[in-house]
Amino acid sequence: MQPLRGTKDILPNEIRHWQKIYQVVNKILTHNNYQEVRTPILENTELFLRSIGNFTDIVNKEMYSFSDRGGRNITLRPEGTASIARALISNKLYLSSKINRLWYLGPMFRYERPQKGRQRQFHQLGIECIGSSMPRADIEVIRIAIKILKQLKLEEWRLEINSIGNLAERIKYTNHLKLYLNKYENDLDEDSQRRLKDNPLRILDSKNIKTQEILNYGPKLREYLEIESLKHFEEVCNDLSKLSINYYINDKLVRGLDYYNYTAFEIKTKGINEQNTICGGGRYDGLIKQLGGPYKPSVGWAMGLERLIIIMKEKLELVENKKVIYIANSNINNSDTIWQIVNTIDKYQLHFELDISNSSLNKQIKKANQIGSKICFIIGNDEILNKYITIKWLETGTQQKVPVCKIDNYIKYIKFSLKT
Ligand code: ATP
Ligand code: MG
Repeated sequence: MQPLRGTKDILPNEIRHWQKIYQVVNKILTHNNYQEVRTPILENTELFLRSIGNFTDIVNKEMYSFSDRGGRNITLRPEGTASIARALISNKLYLSSKINRLWYLGPMFRYERPQKGRQRQFHQLGIECIGSSMPRADIEVIRIAIKILKQLKLEEWRLEINSIGNLAERIKYTNHLKLYLNKYENDLDEDSQRRLKDNPLRILDSKNIKTQEILNYGPKLREYLEIESLKHFEEVCNDLSKLSINYYINDKLVRGLDYYNYTAFEIKTKGINEQNTICGGGRYDGLIKQLGGPYKPSVGWAMGLERLIIIMKEKLELVENKKVIYIANSNINNSDTIWQIVNTIDKYQLHFELDISNSSLNKQIKKANQIGSKICFIIGNDEILNKYITIKWLETGTQQKVPVCKIDNYIKYIKFSLKT
């Protein structure tokens, strides 16, 4: 039996990275007043049709959609923002505060060709700052993304930023771009030819060299931005500089989803082939209203955790958490003492393993040594009969007999001695 193409088991040797990420982001986001939400993986297909946009890659060819037994059109969420916007509206979260700062982490689903850093079930961490149109909100979310990367010891990345203006500016620009590109239609790459009809803005994104050359002589989005858009962008750039966050203005950066306006940004790393974007985000002032909620200008981003972990694995040597105490025990009828010891070790939150192999005490002690435990508790027949535990410090070979009634104090001492 194999897992489905593009899906992957996350096994114990990798899970430590996932736990580390959760720990780090939970701490940072809590400090920054962001609250975690967990929305369902299943949503009505309509949610994504109405938010992401019909002519995007996601809606066009990547969604996992099906009808359920009740004939409803369901989609496995391909991204997080639409679900967060839906949750905000259906739970009326906007009534309790003017600004909602939310974050999420969970699996997303897109039917794509699996490659390194590209899966069909993958995970995103995302944050959404909902309810402010200030450039300061854009800076806040970007600053947090960078903070998370730094905390995870990821240093080689580049922040690319652009402004895609407001809808009116973009429509005007898109029309002119279309007129210009129509003249070169046959010279464009296949994807761009298709986009020329339904989503010309995305042509800017093309990796094709010839297409890029044609674009170089065409109309520039920046020239279509009016004073308000330009001011917003300038403020974002200025504040990034003030925060000493390096950025690179990429005139051709447009995001793959329809709902963005003003600021768009991506964080890219060197390497991992084409899949080098680890974080993508931007401002989406119209989305929540478009979905039937109140007007709530918002900004946010999403990070691909698989891509993050590929780099973390190369960088971060996580120290393996070794079992401190190994409990060797002989096959005795009365297991009261064993459970008493287990409960006590547990009380002091020490890492332990109870032997359940049914092999000889000697073999069990050998195992304790093999896995690098510090201490072996030995509970044999004599120990049970005379109510004591043999405690062997494996590094020095020192062995002591500790009466069961004193074991609590002894484990407390172990805990203390490990700290110092
Ligand atoms: P790409 O251009 O690589 O397909 P995208 O623009 O479709 O990315 P977004 O929708 O912006 O991606 O999602 C944000 C982040 O989620 C991406 O930057 C990436 O790190 C991650 N991501 C997106 N799709 C996948 C996937 N299929 N597998 C793994 N990670 C993904
Ligand atoms: Mg994609």
